[in-house]
Amino acid sequence: MTTRKLRVAIVGGGIGGLTCAAALKDCHDIEIDLFEAAAKFVAIGAGIVTWPRTHACFKALGVNDEVLEAVLNTRKESSCKETEPSRPSWTFHNGKDGSMIYEHYIKEAEATNLHRQKLLDLLLSQLPSASHCRIHFGHRLAGCRELPDSVELSFRNGAVGSFDLVIGADGLKSVVRQAVVRDLGYKERQSGGEGDGEDNQCYLRSDILYTGQSAFRALIPRERLVEVWPDHRALYTPTIYCGKSKHLVAYPIQNGEIVNLVAFFSDSRSGSPVIESTSSSVSSSPQPNNGSVTVEAILATYPGWHDEAVELLKMMKDPTIWPIQDLRPLESYVTPRIALLGDAAHAMSPHLGAGACTAIEDAYILGKIIAKSAQGVTNSNDIHQMLDIYNTLRQPYGNEIMRWAHEMGEFYEFGFDSSELVVNSGEDSDLEDGKLSKGQILAFREAVKKNWGWPGRAAGTIEEDMKRAHVMLENAGLV
Ligand SMILES: Cc1cc2nc3c(=O)[nH]c(=O)nc-3n(C[C@H](O)[C@H](O)[C@H](O)COP(=O)(O)OP(=O)(O)OC[C@H]3O[C@@H](n4cnc5c(N)ncnc54)[C@H](O)[C@@H]3O)c2cc1C
Repeated sequence: MTTRKLRVAIVGGGIGGLTCAAALKDCHDIEIDLFEAAAKFVAIGAGIVTWPRTHACFKALGVNDEVLEAVLNTRKESSCKETEPSRPSWTFHNGKDGSMIYEHYIKEAEATNLHRQKLLDLLLSQLPSASHCRIHFGHRLAGCRELPDSVELSFRNGAVGSFDLVIGADGLKSVVRQAVVRDLGYKERQSGGEGDGEDNQCYLRSDILYTGQSAFRALIPRERLVEVWPDHRALYTPTIYCGKSKHLVAYPIQNGEIVNLVAFFSDSRSGSPVIESTSSSVSSSPQPNNGSVTVEAILATYPGWHDEAVELLKMMKDPTIWPIQDLRPLESYVTPRIALLGDAAHAMSPHLGAGACTAIEDAYILGKIIAKSAQGVTNSNDIHQMLDIYNTLRQPYGNEIMRWAHEMGEFYEFGFDSSELVVNSGEDSDLEDGKLSKGQILAFREAVKKNWGWPGRAAGTIEEDMKRAHVMLENAGLV
């Protein structure tokens, strides 16, 4: 066994890649190279929901209580009303008539809404020192080739590198995933995929699915909304307005100074609420490109919606449109020397506010598994075992949450089996008009209760996960 340090490459400096680097900060038995395509680290988008498991990761990374408190206090300051016991954490309203469908109570501090920039700043403050972590901006990965004793990376700028272990944290359109998918022997290729001419790109993209849903995203300055609607609920309470094939998500961030608004609409949905294991419901309609869009175009998408929702839409500042995509679930997130995390492994639709948090958990757990066992490990078998332990812990979990998020998106847009629920309750229903039967309302509530409980459904605590990891590492003789 050689005593040289383990050479680890992290590809992608988003939320997941930075968390993984942070988890390795005290491990001086490895050399880290972090490659980021952009010229600097940036927080894309604005609001983000975080969960107790996310906060536990931050604590375990060494973020001190005072700093964490300051970051997480955002929601308490901005919307103290909903943290009082009598206030709901999220409310769900009918987009057509404004009536309340459901109030969802979650324990105080269970979910916290943050501005993404705060999250980025927090992670940047936890990065390892330059002595064992080199950061390379402007390095867009072009190729990833796994050999028996190393992984070779090549970048668009001509740079190349050879590593013992590669972590793919390069998001939805992950180039690293290409190598994993190739290793797993996926042969399927969708006809009419969006290949860009390079054979391997086409292969990769065939795993990305356009859900048929798109979203308008924008921020609303508090003072603008207060001027026209001083007690608008979105100023205080995270709110989701639901309707047939459309829904709006609005919640306060940044000490209540801003309302984050994401307005979803579906191009062509079957109405079927659930995706089946490996065959996600794929839309055949053309996917819109990311870009800017006018408020007039947005308003035209929500005809007949209630004033409360329409007022939010009118207030959107510099709105953009985003196609909502997710991934065909992967059988494995690892090969002998490569691990995927975050969106690269399980990009999910944003309907549970779970993607970034799952990326943070993946990254923390993977980083700690490597840190615990890195000393003296460079042989292929040991590396493979380490990554297998990560995969055992994370692959079933990531794929499940991806499925629940997709399912929740269907419920927000009244995608339940309406005929059955109406027959059972003996009532009328006109979903286009926002008229729900009691059975449908009940089904909606049950879906929220079930799916919003995702942090507790698929796993215990982060500490319990790490204990399981430790036992597996011991059994493998790695600690
Ligand atoms: C509308 C919307 C709302 C959302 N709301 C929430 C929410 O409330 N809560 C939540 O938890 N999640 C939310 N998400 C999901 C969340 O944003 C993602 O799951 C999360 O950002 C994934 O982090 P990541 O680090 O895996 O990937 P990314 O954030 O995509 O980071 C990937 C990084 O890799 C870099 N990169 C890409 N390709 C290459 C390459 N070839 N070479 C080198 N570098 C590369 C990129 O520049 C980027 O820095 C939402 C998503 C959307 C679209």
